[in-house]
Amino acid sequence: QETDTSTGAIMPPIVTSTTYCQESPGVHKGFEYSRAQNPTRFTYERSVMTLENGTAAFAFASGMAAINAIFELLPPHSHIITSHDLYGGTYRLLHKIKKRSQNLSVSMVDCNDAKAIEAAITDDTKMIWIESPSNPTLSVIDLKLVSKIAQRHHLIAVCDNTFATPYLQKPLDFGFDIVVHSATKYLNGHSDVINGIVVTNNTEYADQLSLIQFGEGAISSPFDSYMVLRGLKTLAIRMQRHCENALALAQWLKQHSKVKRVIYPGLATHPQHALAQQQMRRFGGMISIELDTDLEGSKKVLENTKLFQLAESLGAVESLIQLPALMTHASIPEAERQKAGISDNLVRLSVGIEHIDDLKADLDQALQYC
Ligand SMILES: *Cc1c(COP(=O)(O)O)cnc(C)c1O
Repeated sequence: QETDTSTGAIMPPIVTSTTYCQESPGVHKGFEYSRAQNPTRFTYERSVMTLENGTAAFAFASGMAAINAIFELLPPHSHIITSHDLYGGTYRLLHKIKKRSQNLSVSMVDCNDAKAIEAAITDDTKMIWIESPSNPTLSVIDLKLVSKIAQRHHLIAVCDNTFATPYLQKPLDFGFDIVVHSATKYLNGHSDVINGIVVTNNTEYADQLSLIQFGEGAISSPFDSYMVLRGLKTLAIRMQRHCENALALAQWLKQHSKVKRVIYPGLATHPQHALAQQQMRRFGGMISIELDTDLEGSKKVLENTKLFQLAESLGAVESLIQLPALMTHASIPEAERQKAGISDNLVRLSVGIEHIDDLKADLDQALQYC
């Protein structure tokens, strides 16, 4: 993050001005109107651009607005390939809005299966969209494999990097064209901003995204941009603690009698553990567990945690617990949900930065209810 050159202020000022004085018509300091250019937003965009090793970044009012901007790159009737396990909001945007407004079609495939991806590609396929680790089943997708297929078939390769953050993995370094974040989660990290950001290293997509951001106007506000800038200062140390706590908790949960299965990329039992070791610095702060009970028993556990707050969202300093089947992934039809491995007893934990002993004690007492 750069200091303010006009005053030397360590933190970038929150510039709320909507417009900027011009010396002569068309002669200005690069700022005309704040939907197009805003100094606070620019500082934020440059900061995440640098973290992701990109050459351009565009900040939006929410993660969904950022994701929507990426789909706007596509002409009508385009076909998109996505991984099975997709953020609920992305699924809803594609199936309930983009199908109707842009005639986009979607194939959900196992993106670690090169043959399955190749088989899904048609003449209309324009984009491949993955999340790794995915939500909520935490499967890790081989970034190199996907980007190679995308390059071969001239598809835009997009990675939703919300769960990993650039601290753990930088998809552009693996050949991806575009990275997107719900900055609402780890980038901001304090459960007090809704925001999204897109990063690319491709000048053609950058030009189009710039036009889409300016033309559609779903920009990140100066205040929200400032908030995420502030959060970014501690991203690395927060991630260290999230990862440390999550690994310790996953190992402890594995031994717990009420827990049938623990899904965490840092465990040797995770199907893509070796892959995660190759492409991630550490394994993140998200854990999913299958409880040894049914929907009712799972609900009881969630009603009885005290430190883990029962809430949607993730990636903030406080620990959260939720039930995807009834909460974040309720908009996905049951059959699709089952296919993606989201059973009724699957519980997702967003492990915060509290003391590990407190986290264990809380889960231990809540698990007695099932
Ligand atoms: C939360 C989330 C989004 C959507 O972001 P918002 O900021 O809520 O609009 C997209 N992708 C993933 C993986 C998310 O967790």
